Amino acid sequence: MMTRRQALKALALSAAVLPASSASAWAQSGAGAAAPAKPPDPAASGPYVLPPLGYAFDALEPHLDAQTMQIHHDKHHAAYVANLNKAVAAHAELAKRPVEDLLRDLSAVPESIRTAVRNQGGGHANHTLLWTSLRKGGAAKPGGALAEALDRTFGGFATFQEKFSLAAASVFGSGWAWLAAQGKQIAIETTPNQDSPLSAGRTPLLGIDVWEHAYYLKYQNRRADYVDAFYHVINWDFVTELYKKHMKA
Ligand code: MN
Repeated sequence: MMTRRQALKALALSAAVLPASSASAWAQSGAGAAAPAKPPDPAASGPYVLPPLGYAFDALEPHLDAQTMQIHHDKHHAAYVANLNKAVAAHAELAKRPVEDLLRDLSAVPESIRTAVRNQGGGHANHTLLWTSLRKGGAAKPGGALAEALDRTFGGFATFQEKFSLAAASVFGSGWAWLAAQGKQIAIETTPNQDSPLSAGRTPLLGIDVWEHAYYLKYQNRRADYVDAFYHVINWDFVTELYKKHMKA
């Protein structure tokens, strides 16, 4: 059995080793040990604001776990908002517009901040849509106009679901799978990173976030299990409303 002295020595050794190796990795990454990058302030004030989740972090248990929801909303989404605010800080005229408008016409965004708006603004818009597309105990499938469109396009909800799941599985690395509308058509597509279908002229109706931060705590490498679970928490009423709004516009 380890004596108290040995235990203290082991602890001191591990404490001495860990910071040294992480500092060296940090220095090699080019970040510089003297000036570590600060995480963005989640409360950073700016024209764009983090919308409230709209339900409790544990509302979507057991499908989406509370810890993931909290980190995803309070840290990841907050960081996109904070970084978007930093990007537009010197562009007051842009910052007056909804982020969706900026994404619809990225070529109108000054080149110096275009990538930041695409990534951080995309992250803000995509997650804002995501939270509102989810609910506890929603219907298993849509009804009404969207159900008819899914039938017309895919031959039924089951086939849509199969193809949507395949699309979500096919995203290499970080990105999203979408059900999106353009004109009178609906289609499944995927985007890398935080790219929005808005930037390709389409209206996103439903998106599944397949960044590992969206599922790794609970599902680890089992993305397919996360995708299966996602169907239990879709707010199809909201998705159907988006579809109807798109069709009227
Ligand atoms: Mn995410």
